[in-house]
Amino acid sequence: MRTRLALPYLPALLLASLFLTAPLQAQVTVTKFSKDFPGAYAFTFDDALPSQIIYAAPYLDQVGLKGSFYLITNNVIDGAAGNAAIGKPTTWADWKAISDKGHEIGSHTLTHTDLTTLAADALGRELTESAKIIKEKIGITPVTLAYPYNAFNATVGKAMLQTYIAARTSQVAYGDVAGFANTTEAMNKYVDGAVAGKSFQIGMIHGLTEPYAPMDPAQFLEHLKYCKKLMDDGKLWVATFGEIRKYLIEKDSIHITIKTQTATEASFTAEASLDSVRFNVPLTFAVAYSGTGAAPAGAKAYRAGSATPLPVTVEADRILVQAVPGKALISVDWSGTAAIHETAAANRRAVGARTSKRKYLVSGKRLLPQIKKSP
Ligand SMILES: [Zn+2]
Repeated sequence: MRTRLALPYLPALLLASLFLTAPLQAQVTVTKFSKDFPGAYAFTFDDALPSQIIYAAPYLDQVGLKGSFYLITNNVIDGAAGNAAIGKPTTWADWKAISDKGHEIGSHTLTHTDLTTLAADALGRELTESAKIIKEKIGITPVTLAYPYNAFNATVGKAMLQTYIAARTSQVAYGDVAGFANTTEAMNKYVDGAVAGKSFQIGMIHGLTEPYAPMDPAQFLEHLKYCKKLMDDGKLWVATFGEIRKYLIEKDSIHITIKTQTATEASFTAEASLDSVRFNVPLTFAVAYSGTGAAPAGAKAYRAGSATPLPVTVEADRILVQAVPGKALISVDWSGTAAIHETAAANRRAVGARTSKRKYLVSGKRLLPQIKKSP
């Protein structure tokens, strides 16, 4: 009799228990691109050409954007900076200066040979020796590669990953060649496409004024200004190829574990099973809150062991937190009372608190390679 009476209450109890545990169902995800920009765009420059030093890099600096430069290392010579001239070899000093300004220096191999034609030992040399030379001459370890002639296959791709995190496998091209863009209007369409399609596009550029695929430097500069405006308006993430690829790889391998969640705070760990020396790009974590109704203008985020606040952006129903993947707990507080100013105390509290067993594996789509031949 008792049992039968109790049964009708069971669904209600289950429902109530769902509501009771709801605050622990914290939702922490990684946005598709940094800061939840809808689209992403990388400028890649091939072949270590003088006009890249004369025009492209200074224009990027003027506008406030970063690009990726892929050097054919055997073509670069020792010598003074600042003497780049069309038709002359470029110098390591010039590329070092460009690297020092925050641009990416990547490998376009030693000799610009079609890698799909090489035997294993020669293939390995083109990939590893070029990276070694860049490290010796510039002091940075290159992490990405542009394939000569954009030619690759599964064997080349596998060998590439022994030295680099990624290579360019699809691109939109610039210059005075059929099907490429060489006016500001046509160039702007590329980035508009990345925004509208919420995609990552890679611009491939050779010389601005050398014979192959040239363009009017002034039109390219206007295009860069257009890109910078899209970035300032929150529509397009323009960064180096390496930085965007790192973000996407980190996002694919991140493992988020919610540790605590209340109406006014959440804490979680976000670990990626990757080499933390190379994969050092902050991910953007979106922490959903359905809290008190008040806008949490004073939201703050900290990483355990650090007194430096993590960058946060507060939106209507979520807080975006920028943090590099790692073991240390990330605490976010939107009580508006600066309750986690004292990070040590907050972290002790968070670590000691009840741990949700629920784990969130966030994954993204990998970019599919498209083969498109061009020099
Ligand atoms: Zn090339």
